Amino acid sequence: MPDKTIDCKDCNSQFVFSESEQAFYKEKGFDNEPQRCPDCRRAKKQQRNDNRGGGRRFGNR
Ligand SMILES: [Zn+2]
Repeated sequence: MPDKTIDCKDCNSQFVFSESEQAFYKEKGFDNEPQRCPDCRRAKKQQRNDNRGGGRRFGNR
């Protein structure tokens, strides 16, 4: 499987979805390719962490 170049949904920059990452995704059972570059993914994750404990009941185990 060759490396893929994908346009980030958030910042429109291109990033490489590398062969090893594709293998990782497959292993995890993800059908979809990532929509965002690693930077945006990290930012999103960070955001979620910041919101933790912010009054939402969902996922509060
Ligand atoms: Zn991005």
